[in-house]
Amino acid sequence: MIWKAEKNGCYSVRSAYRTCIEDIINNEHLRKPRYWSGIWRLKVPPKVKNLVWRICRDCFPTRVKLRSRGVNCPSGCVRCEDPHEDSYHILFHCPSAVVTWQTANLWHLISPSLNQFDNAPDNIFNLLQKLSAAQIEISVTIMWSIWKARNLKLWQQVTDSNFTILERARHLLEGWRNASRKQVHLNPTTSDSGSSSASQYQCQSQMEKIMCYTPSCSVDLGEALALNHAIQWIHELQLSNVDFEVDSKRVADYFNKGRGDVTEFGSIMDNSLNFCNDYLTNSHVEFIRRQENEVAHTF
Ligand SMILES: [Zn+2]
Repeated sequence: MIWKAEKNGCYSVRSAYRTCIEDIINNEHLRKPRYWSGIWRLKVPPKVKNLVWRICRDCFPTRVKLRSRGVNCPSGCVRCEDPHEDSYHILFHCPSAVVTWQTANLWHLISPSLNQFDNAPDNIFNLLQKLSAAQIEISVTIMWSIWKARNLKLWQQVTDSNFTILERARHLLEGWRNASRKQVHLNPTTSDSGSSSASQYQCQSQMEKIMCYTPSCSVDLGEALALNHAIQWIHELQLSNVDFEVDSKRVADYFNKGRGDVTEFGSIMDNSLNFCNDYLTNSHVEFIRRQENEVAHTF
């Protein structure tokens, strides 16, 4: 028997799931041929991209949307008297949002689009194609900040000024750009309490993460696991340009020259190597002696 959904003819749950989703279940309503890659290519913080994607997917929890799903809440705008709070109103029609766009000197770029399209997704897709990279990056980050201001007003009765909304957006975008540009030094390492091992990663002394796992394992295996977790953590943070400093020479050597080790250590290291090749650019693994790795051992 040959399973046609896989090139090698062997059944896999993943290809079965894909076949169900694409061919058997009617998901036409989910297929929206739009400029989705334009959203994911934006060089903005992940939470901003996520927000833009949710708006464009029409799953943004405005009051109008919540009511359409049976939530018993008012439908009016949190920040003005308008009776219809949808994403179009919040981002482009609410008087406070308009003043924010004007203060940012972006209103003259956005308002022509509003004459063409009467909903937020169409306007955003249009702006993605019309504005320059710098203009659209700050624009979508301002959208995030406007939504933040709306939530602060709703949940904490805080009224942000337009200046605050703009500064929050600029600060977020600049901070993220700076963090993305820097060459990060990361020190994954392990400690052993007897019954469990702890992976510790410290990064520029500002970000740190500790993971514990049982049972306790050998030093080299622990170091390989620590590096593996650290690489995935860095990927989640959407950083690149990372120097991983490890105090296991075996781990550093394997990463830079190895391959072909069929033990558990080798399979973890191969996974790290593949992950690094696929997702992290301009990143390296270096060996430094344990006594020099003081940063990682000051926990
Ligand atoms: Zn309003």
